[in-house]
Amino acid sequence: MIIYGSRMYGRKNQIRSHGRCEHCGRVGAQNSYDGRKWGHLYFIPIIPDGRRVRVLRECKSCQKGFHIPLETLPGIVESIQKTLIDAVVAIGAKENEMTVNGHSLSVVSVLGANISDAYCLGGESEVRLLLENLKSIKADKELLLAEAKAAEVRGDLKNAEAKFGELATRSTHPVILYQAARFFQDQARIPEAIALGERVESMLPADLNVKQLLIDGYTAQKEWTKLALTYENCFLLAPELKQQKPIAKAYQKACKKAGREPQK
Ligand SMILES: [Zn+2]
Repeated sequence: MIIYGSRMYGRKNQIRSHGRCEHCGRVGAQNSYDGRKWGHLYFIPIIPDGRRVRVLRECKSCQKGFHIPLETLPGIVESIQKTLIDAVVAIGAKENEMTVNGHSLSVVSVLGANISDAYCLGGESEVRLLLENLKSIKADKELLLAEAKAAEVRGDLKNAEAKFGELATRSTHPVILYQAARFFQDQARIPEAIALGERVESMLPADLNVKQLLIDGYTAQKEWTKLALTYENCFLLAPELKQQKPIAKAYQKACKKAGREPQK
């Protein structure tokens, strides 16, 4: 049997991290590194198959990650650094929203979303700078969120859990609570995730992301009545969801289990 294929060789600047794979959904260890795809014969690299790339968050299970051409990397790193500095400035000015690439976004969601990228691209020094900046403007809760996210991405889950748990009791910010709920869901701590998700839903009743989180939680816990009601609330907000077969099927199953008549 001749084994021919392609894989990444010449791995450099490797950073190990922890997170949810955006391709297959598995939660666990991920790898970021610089490398080049080579064709191989019996696993001996023979021809370079593409340019050098930075692979971001390659999943151990499905082997997928994001590939960024190495020559574009300095621009991307610079833009993430700038976004994080802008976020700290916005937090210092007590602003809730900031503009990123022409979109108005919640400052704390920008903060949370960029920590993993900053860490997987530049490692500990990028994150340390952010934490120092938040400390210097005395942004307690945002600092706690950044520390929680940083601990999560490093795979220091005990520490991340303690910080997210503290945020769950101290913060009333829906976006911060949502991020804590996502963390607990990723750790399969479903009752905690549901409790936080329900608090967020009462503050942001039109948000479909938190409804998705609750749907996953109620499904896992077999809370059929709450599941059916959450689907119905989603259909009110986005009627097109009802046309999607897997969603319609899951809704009907929830109704059947809950002993409810499904909506037409
Ligand atoms: Zn995966």
